[in-house]
Amino acid sequence: MIHPIVKYGDPVLETPGQPVEKFDDDLQKLVADMFESMYAANGVGLAAPQIGISRRIAVIDITFKEDPDAKLVLANPEIIHKEGKHSQPEGCLSIPEFREPVTRAKKVTIRAQDINGEWYEKTGEDLLARAFLHETDHLNGKLYISHISALKRDLMKRKIRKLMKAGEW
Ligand SMILES: [Zn+2]
Repeated sequence: MIHPIVKYGDPVLETPGQPVEKFDDDLQKLVADMFESMYAANGVGLAAPQIGISRRIAVIDITFKEDPDAKLVLANPEIIHKEGKHSQPEGCLSIPEFREPVTRAKKVTIRAQDINGEWYEKTGEDLLARAFLHETDHLNGKLYISHISALKRDLMKRKIRKLMKAGEW
């Protein structure tokens, strides 16, 4: 089932998610829905709060369906290592039409549980490293705009408020 993507302004996006404790059929269904919703929105990563579910789970596929092995489920993820620096324009499905350069670590290792609750570690570089950080931020109630300058952030918020007033957000 495709869920609508929650947009900036909804408090669920700025609330830390609850840990995932049960790796059952309901979670399988949620993860399937998250991949479906992510692809429908043309995204390469999606966190549960973005479909209004305040839980610590995210999905990533930086190949966008090209490589089935690239599909990752991150339950209760933690960043355990960061290395280097890299600046790239970054966007978010919950803040559509906006992109800003964000400096992030170039190489990142996460520790997370998969769909069956098995812990694993994975290291990603560049886009995958960025996805690990961006999605883990979501689960901590943090958006990428917290990493840009206050000036740029205020400008973006003003534009969004205008769109909200016009009923276009
Ligand atoms: Zn996002």
